[in-house]
Amino acid sequence: MSGVKINNVVKRFGDFTALHELNLEIQEGEFLSLLGPSGCGKTTTLRLIAGFIQPTQGSIILGDQDVTQVAPQHREIGMVFQDYALFPHMTIADNIGFGLRERGYPKEQIRARVGDLLDLIRLAEVGERYPAEVSGGQQQRIAVARAVAYPPKVLLMDEPLGALDLKLRETMQVELRRIQQELKITTVYVTHDQTEAMNMSDRIVVMNTGRIEQIGSAEGIYDDPRTRFVADFVGQINLLDAEVTGADGDFLIAETLGSQVRVPKGEGECSGKVSIAVRPEHLQLVDTSSSDNALNVISGKLSGRTFAGNLTRLFVDVGAESPIVVEARPQDAPSEIGVSINIGWKVENSRVLTE
Ligand code: ATP
Repeated sequence: MSGVKINNVVKRFGDFTALHELNLEIQEGEFLSLLGPSGCGKTTTLRLIAGFIQPTQGSIILGDQDVTQVAPQHREIGMVFQDYALFPHMTIADNIGFGLRERGYPKEQIRARVGDLLDLIRLAEVGERYPAEVSGGQQQRIAVARAVAYPPKVLLMDEPLGALDLKLRETMQVELRRIQQELKITTVYVTHDQTEAMNMSDRIVVMNTGRIEQIGSAEGIYDDPRTRFVADFVGQINLLDAEVTGADGDFLIAETLGSQVRVPKGEGECSGKVSIAVRPEHLQLVDTSSSDNALNVISGKLSGRTFAGNLTRLFVDVGAESPIVVEARPQDAPSEIGVSINIGWKVENSRVLTE
């Protein structure tokens, strides 16, 4: 097992630059997800690590070896794809043992290793069946077992749960994370599903148009997005156009939608036009008579509502391009469309974004 370093990697396809000077270090044993919308460069990054494509510039290091010029079959990497790619004519045990047989391992050793892996993926009873005789979730666990049978230095997974329905995907997220932790294998995981990345990863790399926007833990990225793109891509968020008008100790004073609000100072200097970011769950319905300095308040009219079982989403027209989304307890939510409401949030629950 090894860590991975991507040093200053540029990848061009003809005139098109898919990756711009990418620098990324993946720690040994870490589960790292590449998260971003379609076309942002996730799969290209994975294929560069695997060696299926060559960087236009820069280098890839596995452990302490520069593998930039090393062919994929000599990189000792395990890969799992969305379509499982199991061999249909081989039993599940033979699928898992395939890499070991290719490398000439003795039969007894292969049988023991396959048995251990079937136990690890909790499918000891299906070894003699064929891939078509097990479910999609089971096939994906088998694909993982096959990828790690000859212990690779790094496991790469490209949208491995994309073909499964939502419920099964959630179960499989827990399952894949457990397998990764038991094997303590360095894993790079590609997904465009932010919930999946948040559920599974030690760290998440948010990518956009061939560049890294932010790297951090799920909590770090959700609570402290550094750019509008990250704020908007990871979870739901309200972004309010604002203008900084002054400062007060650790806070900035800004004008938004005709109200004065306070926001914690971010890193670096900040003036002029900004966005103020507030998550729907941090907004509350407030009564105007409360004069709490720790609370920012803006006014609007209820323009819509949706019921989601444990909460009601309120859409509040505040005179901006899009309504503000508030998550309220169903029993607190007003139902009359058009009614005036005041919404507030604790100063510390908002962030100022400049990029
Ligand atoms: P998705 O989630 O849709 O798979 P992605 O983030 O994995 O997206 P990549 O497959 O890495 O995106 O592609 C990044 C960009 O590079 C895209 O604009 C894609 O069209 C382009 N690209 C990828 N491979 C090639 C290629 N062989 N030739 C030309 N352009 C390519």
